[in-house]
Amino acid sequence: MNTRVDIAGLELSALEEALARLGHPRFHGRQVFQWIHKRGVTDFTQMSDLARELRTQLAEHFDILTPQVIRKERSVDGTTKLLLRLSDGRQIESVFIPDTPSQTFCISTQVGCAMRCAFCLTGKMGIDRNLTAGEIAGQVRVLARELDMLDTRFNIVLMGMGEPLHNYDATMSALRILADDHGLAVNPRRVTLSTVGVLPALEKLATEPVMPNLAISLHSTTEDQRDMLVPINRKYGLRELLDACRRFPVKRRERITFEYVMLKDVNDSPEDARRLVRLLHGIRGKVNLLPLNEAAGIPFERPSDATVDRFARIVSEHGLTVSVRKSRGRDIRAACGQLITETTPAQSPGRRLALMMD
Ligand code: SAH
Repeated sequence: MNTRVDIAGLELSALEEALARLGHPRFHGRQVFQWIHKRGVTDFTQMSDLARELRTQLAEHFDILTPQVIRKERSVDGTTKLLLRLSDGRQIESVFIPDTPSQTFCISTQVGCAMRCAFCLTGKMGIDRNLTAGEIAGQVRVLARELDMLDTRFNIVLMGMGEPLHNYDATMSALRILADDHGLAVNPRRVTLSTVGVLPALEKLATEPVMPNLAISLHSTTEDQRDMLVPINRKYGLRELLDACRRFPVKRRERITFEYVMLKDVNDSPEDARRLVRLLHGIRGKVNLLPLNEAAGIPFERPSDATVDRFARIVSEHGLTVSVRKSRGRDIRAACGQLITETTPAQSPGRRLALMMD
């Protein structure tokens, strides 16, 4: 069994301590952290300002695990999807969404997802395992390096595969690594965490000193319907979720985003829109409509643009800010809810072997 520590998964303080235990001063920890996270090196031999002896010793004790790019697909709209292989052979996807003025990295927090939302392809995979903090932060490093953006500002959305609040500790640790001034220094205000509303974890998030923006995958305005569309609602219902949102410490001038996937003839009527407005009363929120990205095996249809417009108009007439999410990268299956990889336990051993050998 591999018991070596992945140094890329250590927050700066832990890295400094690890080096101190080996008898090295703390500032070497900062140097190593910078090499890995700011400059994206993947090998100790490249850390040219460290003594050779230290580099050798580091290589004896630690790995620098870096997700490997095994496929890169570019959509006609510029969206780029990376298929990444992790150190144990499992695969995840991360997406770069170019836009003006902001550029966004969409990253994963789990291999697969346990939430099984009725309209999401990732949910069909089930959950394979959690990602480590190193693997979550590593996707950003790899995207930034691949796209030559190590020195560019970008936003991060935790909207790839997985439910971030179902992998709380690793996700928060990754955000601290990404925010560190000695690394990529991504301001948490540029990060948005999207969740179905795992309530105990959401309550914990509310107490964090450094917090990302919050997006809630609401998708429905009644308990019964949400039970079907977002099964975790059976455990943490709509009403409790919205109460938690009411209590959530939203900073001045900021808003919680409520994501609402639009499914034809299911949740797209004017009445649904009006119910949504009533539900969000008293919450500092805004609405982001996501017309369904259709896929084989997903038993719903995308509503017409006119239906989406009608819904948006009702919400906005009641004073809520509303936006319609542009669907990016649909031609390469990189859009919301379309991320799915094939090394799941459900897969046949033969196919897995074939993948391992390719
Ligand atoms: N697990 C987190 C983050 C992942 S997905 C969450 O659920 O919030 C980001 C958004 O894409 C979620 O709001 C999700 O519900 C939505 N989504 C999933 N499948 C979709 C689809 N087929 N079309 C449009 N949006 C979808």
